Amino acid sequence: DLEVAIKVVIVGNGAVGKSSLIQRYCKGIFTKDYKKTIGVDFMERQIRLHGEEVRLMLWDTAGQEEFDAITKAYYRGAHAAVVTFSATDRHSFDAIRSWKKKVEEECGEIPMVIVQNKIDLVDQAVVEANEVEAMARNLHCRLYRTSVKEDLNVNQVFEYLAEKYLTH
Ligand code: GDP
Ligand code: MG
Repeated sequence: DLEVAIKVVIVGNGAVGKSSLIQRYCKGIFTKDYKKTIGVDFMERQIRLHGEEVRLMLWDTAGQEEFDAITKAYYRGAHAAVVTFSATDRHSFDAIRSWKKKVEEECGEIPMVIVQNKIDLVDQAVVEANEVEAMARNLHCRLYRTSVKEDLNVNQVFEYLAEKYLTH
């Protein structure tokens, strides 16, 4: 089989759970204080989809999100993107549109999903379900509600993007 390799960039404000998402999907673990290993640009996981081997390379940032320091090299050649916010952080939700725009400026129209993470923290939630759904509709993106901590809906995010990429 010819192997398909998909570069996926994970964007969104700091502390929404991007590194945790990548670590959960690629290593199957969750830690309270995950810090990105310096020098590692991405983690990968191989899956089988429609009889094809698909290698997903999930790109992480060095934690400079809020300073707009994510370089072009990070976005270059990305085939898909995950735009992430936290259910407990209003600012991160308000930033969704500009993150999507930033990806499109560098990558054009690539498969993209919106991820609302930390849905396990129900009592700390600050965003209403209907406004999230309206935003996703407005941006023409599929929405996934995840808990990286509880391992809810994480695999689905990446299967959907791989599927989209293979069939586009
Ligand atoms: P990043 O800055 O976007 O990479 O965010 P991190 O992955 O470093 O996560 C920030 C904090 O949120 C860490 O303490 C994580 O353990 C925590 N976290 C990530 N995902 C979840 C989740 O689904 N639920 C809860 N309760 N905490 C989470
Ligand atoms: Mg991080």
